[in-house]
Amino acid sequence: MECAYEAIQTRLLVPLKFGDEKLLMLIFGRADKLIRNKGMLIVEESKFPDNAARFLEKFEPYPDQKLQTLLYLNSHFTSTSSFEPSDWFEIPHNEKVWIINIKNKNTGESIKIFRGIQTREAEEFLKDSLRRFALITLGKLEPKHHQNVRKCKPCRFKDCEYMIK
Ligand code: SF4
Repeated sequence: MECAYEAIQTRLLVPLKFGDEKLLMLIFGRADKLIRNKGMLIVEESKFPDNAARFLEKFEPYPDQKLQTLLYLNSHFTSTSSFEPSDWFEIPHNEKVWIINIKNKNTGESIKIFRGIQTREAEEFLKDSLRRFALITLGKLEPKHHQNVRKCKPCRFKDCEYMIK
């Protein structure tokens, strides 16, 4: 089974507890490619970086790239854009697999493909990232700046006072 980009959206509901405070966070998105094959649920994201050559010597993708695929892999799905949990469905699978496909932005040709299964370590990374994100959103934790102009350039948060130009 393979779903086209426009066909299916992701919904991840995350219940969190900080002391007496309870929080329900919804993260929604759309994976570039969603595949089920031989019991594996596979999410593939394509990236078109300005300087793709720097990935040639890397053995791992950047943490934020991996996090994006993990968010999709652990979501429910909807084909109607609904935000009603009763409309969402799961895709049965035995194993979760992430793929990050680094492509030449001019030709679209793949120059490096990172691939891995969702391990216990990846699950902890996802859980920890979600908690940190919620704490930052609640104003309980100071965000750390990435100090990377390449991340600010494509960012859609136009009025950000911390933008590096
Ligand atoms: S513009 Fe602001 S929110 Fe966007 S990447 Fe830069 S610092 Fe982060």
